[in-house]
Amino acid sequence: MSFDAIVVGARVAGSPTAMLLARHGHRVLLVDKATFPSDVLSTHLLHVPAMACLREWGLLDAVVATGAPPHERFTMDFGPFTIAGPPPAVDGVAHPYCVRRTRLDKILVDAARAAGAEVREGFAVDGLLRDDTGRVTGVTGPDGPVEAKLVIGADGLRSIVARETGAGTYHDTPSLTACYYAYYRGVSGPGAEIYQLGDRAVVVFPTNDGLACVFVACPIERFHEFRTDVEGHYLEAISRVPALAARVAAGERVERIRGTADVPNFFRESSGPGWALVGDAGYHKDPCMASGITDAFVCARLLADAVHAALSGDPDGERELDAAVAGYVRARDERFLPALRLTCQLASMEPPSPETAALFATIAASPAESTRFFGVLQGSTPIPSYFDPANIGRIMSGAS
Ligand SMILES: Cc1cc2nc3c(=O)[nH]c(=O)nc-3n(C[C@H](O)[C@H](O)[C@H](O)COP(=O)(O)OP(=O)(O)OC[C@H]3O[C@@H](n4cnc5c(N)ncnc54)[C@H](O)[C@@H]3O)c2cc1C
Repeated sequence: MSFDAIVVGARVAGSPTAMLLARHGHRVLLVDKATFPSDVLSTHLLHVPAMACLREWGLLDAVVATGAPPHERFTMDFGPFTIAGPPPAVDGVAHPYCVRRTRLDKILVDAARAAGAEVREGFAVDGLLRDDTGRVTGVTGPDGPVEAKLVIGADGLRSIVARETGAGTYHDTPSLTACYYAYYRGVSGPGAEIYQLGDRAVVVFPTNDGLACVFVACPIERFHEFRTDVEGHYLEAISRVPALAARVAAGERVERIRGTADVPNFFRESSGPGWALVGDAGYHKDPCMASGITDAFVCARLLADAVHAALSGDPDGERELDAAVAGYVRARDERFLPALRLTCQLASMEPPSPETAALFATIAASPAESTRFFGVLQGSTPIPSYFDPANIGRIMSGAS
C-alpha cells in the first residue's frame, strides 16, 4: 500500500502532524523506533499557546487529566529585580502545564492512531526510497520498503531524513549552554520559577505525580568543569537561591540527574522533492525559552495545513506538494527567526546591558507589563513588535 504521507518520529512534532493529516482524510503512516509510553530528554513545559493547540485538537482534557498542576504564575528572578505574574491567556486557555513526556507523547500518538493514521512503533527507518529523478518516494525499515507521496522527518535533532537528504543548516549558533535536570518530591511551588543568577540559570517546573523538575544550565565553556562533578555543581547552582536550596534539601530527589550539552541553534533546510522536516529536525534551539514543544505544535499545524491544501487540490501534483511544503518552511522561518535570535541572546548568559536591565526593572514594577512580557516568552506576542522602539518607549514611560 502507498501512503499520502509517512511521518518518521511520533512525538510532539510527528504525532500532531500525522493526526491532523489523518483527520483531513489522508492516508498516513506514523513510525517511530521507540515504543510508547517512553521518555525523552526534555523538561517539557507547555506554554499557554501549546495548551491552546491541545484544546483545538480536543486533547486538552486528556492532558489535564494526567494530574500535572496548572502553573498559575511565572517568576523570573534576575537578582536585582523579579518579573512575576500570570502569563497571558490564549484563546481562553489560561495556564501553562509541565507534563511528563511519558504521558504527553502517549496521548499524542494515541490521538494520531484514533484519527486513522496507521502507527508502527519500534520501527526504525534506515533509509529513504527514491525514484530515478532523485525524488524521495518512501522509507526503508524493518518491514522493507514503504512508499508515500511525502516523507516527513519529525525525527529530532539527529534526523535520519535530514541526513539522507543532505539538508544543510542556516542561522547556526553552536551549543551555548550545558543543561542538567532531575525530579524532586516536596519542592513544587505554585508555578514556574526561573532564576537567572550570573552564569547559572536555575528553573523549577512543577509536574506530574507531585514532583518538580529542577533544571540547571551553565555556559558551554563551563561544561567540562561541570561534568567532573555533576551533582556537586548542580547543587552549587541551586545553592545560589537559598530559599530554593532549603526546599531542595528538605525534598527528595527521585530520579538521576540527566543532562546534555548538545543543544545547537539552527534552522535546517526542511523541504525538497518528496520530503519535509518538522519539529527539532528542522528547527532546533537551546531550551532556555522552553519552547520546543510549543513550536513543534505550531509547525505541525502549519505543515499539515499546507500539505492538506496541496493534496486536496491535485492529489497527484508533485509540484504543488513541493511548493506547499516550501511555503510552510518560509512561514516557519519568518515566524521563528526572531525567537531563534532571542534564544541565542538569552542562552549566551551575558549580563544584560544597562538599557535592558532598566527595561526589565520597569517591567518588573508593573503587574500588567509583566504579563505582557510573558507573552513574548510564550510566543503569543510577536517579538519584533514587543521590542519595537515605540513599545519600549511606552513601557519606559509607564503608559499602559
Ligand atoms: C534539556 C532539555 C530541556 C527541554 N525543555 C523543554 C521545555 O521545557 N519545553 C519545551 O517546549 N521544550 C523543551 N525542550 C525541547 C523539546 O524537548 C524538543 O523541542 C522536542 O522534544 C522536539 O520534539 P520532536 O518531536 O521534534 O523530536 P523528539 O522529541 O526528539 O522525537 C523524535 C522522535 O523520532 C524518533 N526517531 C528518530 N530517528 C528515527 C528513525 N530513524 N526511525 C524511526 N524513528 C526515529 C525518535 O525515536 C523520537 O521518538 C528541551 C530540550 C532539552 C534537551
